[in-house]
Amino acid sequence: MGAPDDGNVATGSRFEFKENKMRIATGLILAGAVSLLASSAAWSQALPAPKASAAAAPQAAPAAVPPPAPVSTRPPCNNPNALGIGRTVEIDTTGGPGFGFEHFKELDFLRDKEVVLTFDDGPWPVNTPSVLKTLAEECTTGIFFPIGKHATYYPEILRQVMAAGHSIGSHTWSHAALVNKKLTEQQRKDEIEKGFSAVKWALGKAPAPFFRFPALQHPPEMVTYLGERNIGIFSCDLDSFDFKASKAQTIIDTVMRKVDKNGKGIILMHDFQKHTAEALPELLKKLKAGGYKVVAMRAKAPIQTLAQYDEEIVKDLKLPTVSSRPVSSVVQTISE
Ligand SMILES: [Zn+2]
Repeated sequence: MGAPDDGNVATGSRFEFKENKMRIATGLILAGAVSLLASSAAWSQALPAPKASAAAAPQAAPAAVPPPAPVSTRPPCNNPNALGIGRTVEIDTTGGPGFGFEHFKELDFLRDKEVVLTFDDGPWPVNTPSVLKTLAEECTTGIFFPIGKHATYYPEILRQVMAAGHSIGSHTWSHAALVNKKLTEQQRKDEIEKGFSAVKWALGKAPAPFFRFPALQHPPEMVTYLGERNIGIFSCDLDSFDFKASKAQTIIDTVMRKVDKNGKGIILMHDFQKHTAEALPELLKKLKAGGYKVVAMRAKAPIQTLAQYDEEIVKDLKLPTVSSRPVSSVVQTISE
Protein backbone atom coordinates (compact mmCIF):
# COMPACT_ATOMS: atom_id res chain seq x y z
CA MET A 1 0.00 0.00 0.00
CA GLY A 2 1.04 3.58 -0.04
CA ALA A 3 2.12 4.06 -3.62
CA PRO A 4 0.32 6.75 -5.56
CA ASP A 5 -2.44 5.49 -7.74
CA ASP A 6 -2.32 5.48 -11.46
CA GLY A 7 -3.60 8.21 -13.64
CA ASN A 8 -4.11 10.95 -11.09
CA VAL A 9 -7.73 10.10 -11.31
CA ALA A 10 -8.33 7.57 -8.63
CA THR A 11 -9.32 7.96 -5.07
CA GLY A 12 -7.68 4.88 -3.61
CA SER A 13 -4.13 3.82 -3.06
CA ARG A 14 -2.43 1.05 -4.85
CA PHE A 15 -1.25 -2.26 -3.57
CA GLU A 16 2.38 -3.01 -4.12
CA PHE A 17 2.57 -6.34 -5.80
CA LYS A 18 5.28 -8.85 -5.53
CA GLU A 19 7.26 -9.65 -8.61
CA ASN A 20 5.78 -12.39 -10.61
CA LYS A 21 7.30 -15.59 -9.56
CA MET A 22 5.03 -18.05 -11.13
CA ARG A 23 5.16 -19.71 -14.34
CA ILE A 24 6.96 -22.85 -13.84
CA ALA A 25 4.43 -23.60 -16.10
CA THR A 26 2.63 -26.39 -17.12
CA GLY A 27 1.37 -25.68 -20.47
CA LEU A 28 -2.09 -25.87 -19.21
CA ILE A 29 -5.13 -25.20 -21.01
CA LEU A 30 -7.55 -22.86 -21.61
CA ALA A 31 -10.86 -24.28 -20.83
CA GLY A 32 -12.37 -22.91 -23.93
CA ALA A 33 -11.91 -19.34 -22.89
CA VAL A 34 -9.23 -18.59 -25.42
CA SER A 35 -9.11 -19.82 -28.94
CA LEU A 36 -6.71 -19.18 -31.74
CA LEU A 37 -8.13 -17.13 -34.52
CA ALA A 38 -5.49 -16.15 -36.95
CA SER A 39 -1.86 -15.30 -37.09
CA SER A 40 0.47 -12.81 -38.58
CA ALA A 41 -2.02 -10.13 -39.28
CA ALA A 42 -0.11 -7.11 -40.40
CA TRP A 43 -1.72 -3.78 -40.73
CA SER A 44 -1.40 -0.14 -40.09
CA GLN A 45 -3.71 2.77 -39.81
CA ALA A 46 -3.34 6.40 -40.61
CA LEU A 47 -4.52 8.49 -37.71
CA PRO A 48 -5.94 11.98 -37.52
CA ALA A 49 -3.74 14.58 -35.90
CA PRO A 50 -4.04 14.89 -32.13
CA LYS A 51 -6.32 17.53 -30.77
CA ALA A 52 -3.62 19.43 -28.93
CA SER A 53 -5.69 22.34 -27.76
CA ALA A 54 -7.40 20.44 -25.00
CA ALA A 55 -4.22 18.89 -23.67
CA ALA A 56 -4.41 19.90 -20.07
CA ALA A 57 -8.12 20.27 -19.60
CA PRO A 58 -8.94 18.48 -16.39
CA GLN A 59 -12.69 18.72 -16.79
CA ALA A 60 -13.71 19.21 -20.36
CA ALA A 61 -17.37 19.60 -21.10
CA PRO A 62 -19.20 16.52 -22.32
CA ALA A 63 -19.32 16.35 -26.07
CA ALA A 64 -22.41 16.40 -28.20
CA VAL A 65 -23.95 13.20 -29.51
CA PRO A 66 -21.24 11.29 -31.36
CA PRO A 67 -21.83 10.30 -34.97
CA PRO A 68 -22.35 6.65 -35.97
CA ALA A 69 -19.66 4.18 -34.97
CA PRO A 70 -16.51 4.23 -37.09
CA VAL A 71 -15.55 1.19 -39.11
CA SER A 72 -12.39 -0.61 -38.15
CA THR A 73 -10.01 -0.80 -41.10
CA ARG A 74 -6.70 -2.57 -41.48
CA PRO A 75 -4.67 -1.46 -44.47
CA PRO A 76 -1.47 -3.38 -45.25
CA CYS A 77 1.53 -2.71 -43.05
CA ASN A 78 4.09 -0.50 -44.75
CA ASN A 79 6.86 -1.07 -42.23
CA PRO A 80 8.87 -4.22 -43.03
CA ASN A 81 10.56 -4.04 -39.63
CA ALA A 82 7.36 -3.62 -37.68
CA LEU A 83 6.63 -5.50 -34.47
CA GLY A 84 3.34 -6.61 -36.02
CA ILE A 85 0.88 -9.11 -34.56
CA GLY A 86 2.01 -12.66 -33.85
CA ARG A 87 -1.45 -14.16 -33.44
CA THR A 88 -4.99 -13.19 -32.60
CA VAL A 89 -7.04 -15.01 -29.97
CA GLU A 90 -10.77 -14.81 -29.45
CA ILE A 91 -12.03 -14.67 -25.87
CA ASP A 92 -15.27 -16.22 -24.70
CA THR A 93 -16.01 -14.22 -21.53
CA THR A 94 -18.85 -16.47 -20.37
CA GLY A 95 -18.58 -16.83 -16.59
CA GLY A 96 -16.05 -14.00 -16.25
CA PRO A 97 -12.61 -15.54 -16.85
CA GLY A 98 -9.68 -13.73 -15.22
CA PHE A 99 -6.43 -12.92 -17.02
CA GLY A 100 -3.07 -11.84 -15.65
CA PHE A 101 -0.99 -13.85 -13.20
CA GLU A 102 -0.76 -11.05 -10.65
CA HIS A 103 -4.23 -12.23 -9.59
CA PHE A 104 -5.51 -15.03 -11.81
CA LYS A 105 -3.59 -18.24 -12.32
CA GLU A 106 -6.00 -20.38 -14.33
CA LEU A 107 -5.49 -19.21 -17.88
CA ASP A 108 -1.87 -19.52 -18.91
CA PHE A 109 -2.52 -19.06 -22.61
CA LEU A 110 0.51 -17.06 -23.71
CA ARG A 111 3.39 -18.93 -25.28
CA ASP A 112 7.00 -18.05 -24.56
CA LYS A 113 7.96 -14.65 -25.97
CA GLU A 114 4.35 -13.56 -26.36
CA VAL A 115 3.07 -10.29 -24.91
CA VAL A 116 -0.26 -8.46 -24.74
CA LEU A 117 -0.13 -4.64 -24.70
CA THR A 118 -2.77 -2.99 -22.50
CA PHE A 119 -3.47 0.70 -21.91
CA ASP A 120 -5.59 2.21 -19.11
CA ASP A 121 -7.21 5.49 -18.09
CA GLY A 122 -7.75 7.14 -21.49
CA PRO A 123 -8.95 8.49 -23.74
CA TRP A 124 -6.89 11.64 -23.28
CA PRO A 125 -5.70 14.34 -25.67
CA VAL A 126 -2.19 14.15 -27.06
CA ASN A 127 -1.12 11.04 -25.14
CA THR A 128 -3.72 8.60 -26.49
CA PRO A 129 -3.29 9.78 -30.12
CA SER A 130 0.49 9.47 -29.67
CA VAL A 131 0.12 5.88 -28.45
CA LEU A 132 -2.14 5.14 -31.43
CA LYS A 133 0.39 6.59 -33.84
CA THR A 134 3.17 4.41 -32.43
CA LEU A 135 1.05 1.26 -32.52
CA ALA A 136 0.13 2.03 -36.14
CA GLU A 137 3.76 2.57 -37.12
CA GLU A 138 4.59 -0.81 -35.62
CA CYS A 139 1.51 -2.41 -37.22
CA THR A 140 0.51 -3.82 -33.86
CA THR A 141 -2.38 -3.66 -31.44
CA GLY A 142 -3.46 -3.50 -27.82
CA ILE A 143 -6.41 -3.52 -25.44
CA PHE A 144 -7.60 -0.17 -24.13
CA PHE A 145 -9.42 0.16 -20.79
CA PRO A 146 -10.92 3.68 -20.84
CA ILE A 147 -12.45 5.48 -17.89
CA GLY A 148 -16.14 6.16 -18.54
CA LYS A 149 -15.96 9.85 -17.70
CA HIS A 150 -12.97 10.32 -19.97
CA ALA A 151 -14.88 8.59 -22.76
CA THR A 152 -17.63 11.20 -22.41
CA TYR A 153 -15.07 14.05 -22.47
CA TYR A 154 -13.25 12.81 -25.57
CA PRO A 155 -15.44 10.39 -27.53
CA GLU A 156 -13.69 11.32 -30.77
CA ILE A 157 -10.36 10.08 -29.42
CA LEU A 158 -11.89 6.79 -28.28
CA ARG A 159 -13.34 6.46 -31.77
CA GLN A 160 -9.82 6.75 -33.18
CA VAL A 161 -8.88 3.80 -30.97
CA MET A 162 -11.74 1.76 -32.39
CA ALA A 163 -11.12 2.86 -35.98
CA ALA A 164 -7.53 1.66 -35.68
CA GLY A 165 -8.77 -1.83 -34.86
CA HIS A 166 -7.78 -2.12 -31.20
CA SER A 167 -9.85 -3.91 -28.56
CA ILE A 168 -11.70 -1.68 -26.09
CA GLY A 169 -13.07 -2.67 -22.69
CA SER A 170 -13.83 -0.54 -19.62
CA HIS A 171 -12.18 0.63 -16.39
CA THR A 172 -15.21 1.91 -14.37
CA TRP A 173 -17.11 5.17 -14.66
CA SER A 174 -14.95 7.40 -12.43
CA HIS A 175 -11.96 5.23 -11.49
CA ALA A 176 -13.32 4.81 -7.98
CA ALA A 177 -11.47 2.26 -5.87
CA LEU A 178 -14.08 -0.49 -5.66
CA VAL A 179 -12.56 -1.83 -2.44
CA ASN A 180 -13.44 1.46 -0.72
CA LYS A 181 -15.64 0.48 2.22
CA LYS A 182 -17.60 3.71 1.90
CA LEU A 183 -19.13 2.47 -1.33
CA THR A 184 -22.25 0.36 -1.16
CA GLU A 185 -22.50 -2.77 -3.25
CA GLN A 186 -24.92 -0.97 -5.53
CA GLN A 187 -22.48 1.92 -6.01
CA ARG A 188 -19.77 -0.54 -6.98
CA LYS A 189 -22.03 -2.13 -9.56
CA ASP A 190 -23.00 1.34 -10.80
CA GLU A 191 -19.31 2.15 -11.35
CA ILE A 192 -18.87 -0.98 -13.46
CA GLU A 193 -22.10 -0.72 -15.44
CA LYS A 194 -22.00 3.02 -16.06
CA GLY A 195 -18.41 2.73 -17.23
CA PHE A 196 -19.40 0.28 -19.95
CA SER A 197 -22.45 2.34 -20.93
CA ALA A 198 -20.28 5.47 -21.22
CA VAL A 199 -17.85 3.70 -23.54
CA LYS A 200 -20.77 2.39 -25.58
CA TRP A 201 -22.18 5.92 -25.81
CA ALA A 202 -18.84 7.31 -26.97
CA LEU A 203 -18.26 4.62 -29.58
CA GLY A 204 -21.81 4.31 -30.84
CA LYS A 205 -21.52 0.54 -30.29
CA ALA A 206 -20.90 -1.80 -27.38
CA PRO A 207 -17.26 -2.48 -26.44
CA ALA A 208 -15.73 -5.84 -25.52
CA PRO A 209 -16.81 -7.38 -22.19
CA PHE A 210 -13.28 -6.78 -20.88
CA PHE A 211 -12.88 -5.05 -17.50
CA ARG A 212 -9.93 -3.90 -15.42
CA PHE A 213 -10.34 -2.85 -11.78
CA PRO A 214 -8.83 0.54 -10.84
CA ALA A 215 -5.44 0.04 -9.18
CA LEU A 216 -5.90 -3.72 -9.66
CA GLN A 217 -7.92 -3.91 -6.45
CA HIS A 218 -10.37 -6.78 -6.73
CA PRO A 219 -13.24 -6.91 -4.20
CA PRO A 220 -14.36 -10.58 -4.27
CA GLU A 221 -18.06 -9.79 -4.51
CA MET A 222 -17.45 -7.69 -7.63
CA VAL A 223 -15.38 -10.45 -9.16
CA THR A 224 -18.40 -12.68 -8.63
CA TYR A 225 -20.69 -10.04 -10.12
CA LEU A 226 -18.54 -9.73 -13.24
CA GLY A 227 -18.73 -13.50 -13.60
CA GLU A 228 -22.52 -13.33 -13.50
CA ARG A 229 -22.40 -10.58 -16.13
CA ASN A 230 -20.08 -12.66 -18.35
CA ILE A 231 -17.37 -9.99 -18.28
CA GLY A 232 -13.70 -10.98 -18.53
CA ILE A 233 -11.40 -9.54 -15.85
CA PHE A 234 -7.94 -8.28 -16.74
CA SER A 235 -5.24 -8.02 -14.15
CA CYS A 236 -1.72 -8.19 -15.63
CA ASP A 237 1.42 -10.29 -15.66
CA LEU A 238 3.73 -7.34 -15.38
CA ASP A 239 3.12 -3.78 -14.32
CA SER A 240 5.13 -1.03 -16.01
CA PHE A 241 4.48 1.30 -13.05
CA ASP A 242 4.55 3.99 -15.73
CA PHE A 243 2.38 6.30 -13.61
CA LYS A 244 5.24 6.55 -11.14
CA ALA A 245 8.00 7.03 -13.70
CA SER A 246 9.51 10.49 -14.02
CA LYS A 247 10.88 9.77 -17.47
CA ALA A 248 10.29 7.49 -20.44
CA GLN A 249 13.53 5.51 -20.08
CA THR A 250 12.44 4.22 -16.66
CA ILE A 251 9.33 2.68 -18.23
CA ILE A 252 11.33 1.04 -21.02
CA ASP A 253 13.83 -0.39 -18.53
CA THR A 254 11.14 -1.64 -16.14
CA VAL A 255 9.09 -3.39 -18.81
CA MET A 256 12.09 -5.00 -20.54
CA ARG A 257 13.54 -6.21 -17.24
CA LYS A 258 10.25 -7.77 -16.18
CA VAL A 259 9.36 -9.28 -19.53
CA ASP A 260 12.84 -10.76 -19.90
CA LYS A 261 12.44 -12.30 -16.46
CA ASN A 262 8.94 -13.65 -17.12
CA GLY A 263 9.54 -14.57 -20.72
CA LYS A 264 6.08 -13.38 -21.71
CA GLY A 265 3.08 -11.55 -20.28
CA ILE A 266 0.19 -9.11 -20.30
CA ILE A 267 1.82 -5.69 -19.87
CA LEU A 268 -0.03 -2.94 -17.98
CA MET A 269 0.55 0.63 -19.22
CA HIS A 270 -1.45 3.89 -19.38
CA ASP A 271 -2.24 5.76 -22.59
CA PHE A 272 -3.26 8.55 -20.20
CA GLN A 273 0.38 9.09 -19.23
CA LYS A 274 2.74 11.36 -21.15
CA HIS A 275 5.88 9.36 -20.38
CA THR A 276 4.22 6.18 -21.58
CA ALA A 277 3.45 7.76 -24.93
CA GLU A 278 7.06 8.93 -25.11
CA ALA A 279 8.45 5.51 -24.14
CA LEU A 280 6.37 3.43 -26.52
CA PRO A 281 8.34 3.84 -29.79
CA GLU A 282 11.58 2.58 -28.25
CA LEU A 283 9.83 0.01 -26.08
CA LEU A 284 8.16 -1.61 -29.09
CA LYS A 285 11.47 -1.66 -30.97
CA LYS A 286 13.11 -3.37 -27.99
CA LEU A 287 10.33 -5.94 -27.80
CA LYS A 288 10.81 -6.68 -31.50
CA ALA A 289 14.58 -6.92 -31.09
CA GLY A 290 14.08 -9.24 -28.12
CA GLY A 291 12.05 -11.65 -30.23
CA TYR A 292 8.72 -10.90 -28.59
CA LYS A 293 5.45 -11.23 -30.47
CA VAL A 294 2.24 -9.35 -29.74
CA VAL A 295 -0.96 -11.30 -29.21
CA ALA A 296 -4.21 -9.54 -30.08
CA MET A 297 -7.14 -10.42 -27.79
CA ARG A 298 -10.57 -10.04 -29.33
CA ALA A 299 -13.94 -10.62 -27.67
CA LYS A 300 -16.18 -13.32 -29.11
CA ALA A 301 -19.18 -11.01 -28.56
CA PRO A 302 -19.68 -7.44 -27.32
CA ILE A 303 -20.90 -6.66 -23.83
CA GLN A 304 -24.62 -6.52 -23.20
CA THR A 305 -24.98 -3.20 -21.41
CA LEU A 306 -27.96 -2.54 -19.14
CA ALA A 307 -30.55 -0.14 -20.53
CA GLN A 308 -30.95 1.83 -17.30
CA TYR A 309 -27.27 2.83 -17.39
CA ASP A 310 -27.34 3.66 -21.09
CA GLU A 311 -30.23 5.99 -20.29
CA GLU A 312 -28.45 7.45 -17.28
CA ILE A 313 -25.47 8.43 -19.42
CA VAL A 314 -27.69 10.27 -21.86
CA LYS A 315 -29.49 11.99 -19.01
CA ASP A 316 -26.25 12.94 -17.26
CA LEU A 317 -24.78 14.49 -20.34
CA LYS A 318 -27.90 16.52 -21.02
CA LEU A 319 -27.61 15.71 -24.65
CA PRO A 320 -29.45 17.77 -27.24
CA THR A 321 -32.70 16.46 -28.65
CA VAL A 322 -32.96 15.52 -32.28
CA SER A 323 -34.43 18.90 -33.11
CA SER A 324 -31.91 21.34 -34.53
CA ARG A 325 -34.34 24.18 -35.17
CA PRO A 326 -33.12 27.61 -34.03
CA VAL A 327 -34.56 29.08 -30.84
CA SER A 328 -36.47 31.69 -32.78
CA SER A 329 -38.45 29.08 -34.62
CA VAL A 330 -39.26 27.15 -31.45
CA VAL A 331 -39.97 29.98 -28.99
CA GLN A 332 -42.03 32.93 -30.09
CA THR A 333 -42.93 35.87 -27.85
CA ILE A 334 -46.64 36.39 -28.26
CA SER A 335 -47.27 38.70 -25.33
CA GLU A 336 -45.04 41.00 -23.29
ZN1 LIG B 1 -6.45 3.11 -13.88
